[in-house]
Amino acid sequence: MKRLVPAEPYNGGVTSAPPSPTTVIRPGPSPARLDFASGIFDYAPAPESVRPEIAGSYGLFIGGTSVDAQGGKRFATTNPATGETISEVAEASAADVDRAVAAARAALPAWSALPGIERGKYLYRIARRLQERAREIAVLETIDGGKPIKESRDVDIPLAAAHFFYHAGWADKLAYAFPGTDPKPVGVCGQIIPWNFPLLMAAWKIAPALACGNTVVLKPAETTPLTALRLAEICDEVGLPAGVVNIVTGAGATGAAIVEHPGVDKIAFTGSTEVGKRIAKAVAGTDKTLTLELGGKSANIIFEDASIDQAVEGIIEGIYFNQGHVCCAGSRLFVQESIADRVTAKLRDRLATLRVGDPLDKNTDVGAINSRAQLDTIERYLRIGRDEGATLHEVNGSALPDAGNWCRPCFFTGVQPSHAIAREEIFGPVLAVMTFRTPAEAIERANNTPYGLAAGVWTDKGSKIFEVASKLDAGVVWLNTYNKFDPTSPFGGFKESGFGREGGRHGLRPYVRL
Ligand code: NAD
Repeated sequence: MKRLVPAEPYNGGVTSAPPSPTTVIRPGPSPARLDFASGIFDYAPAPESVRPEIAGSYGLFIGGTSVDAQGGKRFATTNPATGETISEVAEASAADVDRAVAAARAALPAWSALPGIERGKYLYRIARRLQERAREIAVLETIDGGKPIKESRDVDIPLAAAHFFYHAGWADKLAYAFPGTDPKPVGVCGQIIPWNFPLLMAAWKIAPALACGNTVVLKPAETTPLTALRLAEICDEVGLPAGVVNIVTGAGATGAAIVEHPGVDKIAFTGSTEVGKRIAKAVAGTDKTLTLELGGKSANIIFEDASIDQAVEGIIEGIYFNQGHVCCAGSRLFVQESIADRVTAKLRDRLATLRVGDPLDKNTDVGAINSRAQLDTIERYLRIGRDEGATLHEVNGSALPDAGNWCRPCFFTGVQPSHAIAREEIFGPVLAVMTFRTPAEAIERANNTPYGLAAGVWTDKGSKIFEVASKLDAGVVWLNTYNKFDPTSPFGGFKESGFGREGGRHGLRPYVRL
């Protein structure tokens, strides 16, 4: 693959000791010293030492090679934890999308004619190469997106590899997935993904498409293009035939060009409900098929018989994981009235111990907000919540770095169902806490939302679990846990959270014609 040599390789702000005081919270001389003022354990900094090579600029991956955008337009991608520019990336125009679609179309006959067992071998190779390069890619994901290294290292990259492994297994078994039929590929798939799980979302899209014999044109989000381009390198390394995977970088206009291209047979979109609706309109009346994975305002319901400590950990996992940049974040918490004070007290205590700061520090729990625009959105909702009369609890005492985009994890009490913070997706570490008295009220209030992506139920009673879970309008319901993902388990929404499923046997369906 043609690589453009970096003028000066960016090292992601990774420093050997002593780390930069602007990017590391509370550097301390000894491990595990409790700072009683803030409630935060003061660990010695543990900065990630791997330094991925990052080129000064990247092209588009079209037809198995790196090419410049026609007209040479580029945009910068920055490190949200420092504000520094990491690299420049080509901005694909409609003409570039046309080239990518032509490459995918040209590759389609040979790829779809390949026996499934052979396609599966390529997917296995991609999965193994992702594992081999996991550390480097995890660091890159954290530098480009702002999520804590322990999440990209332990969740994003292993799950991305797992999706390729899982779908490699399906490639030669499609006839068993759809018995009595002769599944055929849909054709050229246009795939558009957001910035919250950049590589993982690419894996969710590319792995099933390839397993089913399709070719793809994928567009990563404009703030997090780098790991998708690493995946392009891996496709090249494993000898994937040219044109089977094409990656075009750019913003909304590039995505719209994919959606509108007549040579695309299927659109798979993950992102906001607003853009999803626009795409649904653009695709209506064409013969393209469509799947949409959109926003959410998911409910986490805690009953009085639940294990409270376990539930509080689930609440933390549900809303503060990845800074709340999770479509299925448990952003509405419904607590049974009798335990509300206990739960909020424990939540405050636990919140105080979360370490916010340098995403490359292995101790960090909450990293940087992905972009200035997203931080502005979150801060706007914090103001709206206070203006609406809710009480903001911001108990975390982490010293925030000077540069970059930061928001302390927090929660609101005194929230009414009509409040914007209870109805609208904030996509940040902001929790709206409400109470209920009976299971019926919990179900009614949890379902009182235009979204329907996920929910959590916490109770010791098995019968209550099944009763409540079966009545929640949510694509995924977690029971006594939250935010657990597995490639074998279908994921997707109800109502304005979209339609279609990704993962499991259900996730193959959008990629085959029966
Ligand atoms: P977004 O809708 O702004 O952007 C998503 C992608 O669409 C980006 O690549 C963007 O460049 C592209 N895009 C923007 N305008 C477009 C247009 N007119 N036509 C085609 N493509 C266009 O969303 P975001 O801010 O990047 O991501 C956050 C949203 O994604 C949240 O609402 C979140 O809930 C949702 N999300 C959903 C899931 C899920 O599985 N349901 C998963 C992750 C994120």
